[in-house]
Amino acid sequence: MNSGHCLCGAISYRLTAKPDAVVLCHCEECQRHSGSAFSVNVLVARDAVEITGTPRSHQTVGAENGHLRDRLFCGDCGTPIFTVMHERPEIIIVKAGTLDDRSGVNPVAEVWWRRAQDWIEPSPTRPRFDGDLKA
Ligand SMILES: [Zn+2]
Ligand SMILES: [Zn+2]
Repeated sequence: MNSGHCLCGAISYRLTAKPDAVVLCHCEECQRHSGSAFSVNVLVARDAVEITGTPRSHQTVGAENGHLRDRLFCGDCGTPIFTVMHERPEIIIVKAGTLDDRSGVNPVAEVWWRRAQDWIEPSPTRPRFDGDLKA
């Protein structure tokens, strides 16, 4: 769980520290950005991510909380790779699907549960938050 790349390889990265946490996000923007039901967000210290290549960026505003997000993706193949939260710039979110080795990915919480698709079964063990993660 220490390196990754987009579909075409134009953007790659190395992680020099272990992630802080893995969180599933069911928010409107993550559903749209991932093209799926939720996104699998790996939270890593910004200092610990070395990026090769220049991702393109698209800024979103949270429909419910107004939070700004830079959604970084490969301009060649379109793979979503990173998200930067403006209120927590010391953290970068890595999309788990872009990791080379996903075997260590173990989500510890789910956020924006009230936006989750109704066919998703709640986990018996994973804490769920209706909105953002409470510190
Ligand atoms: Zn690419
Ligand atoms: Zn989200």
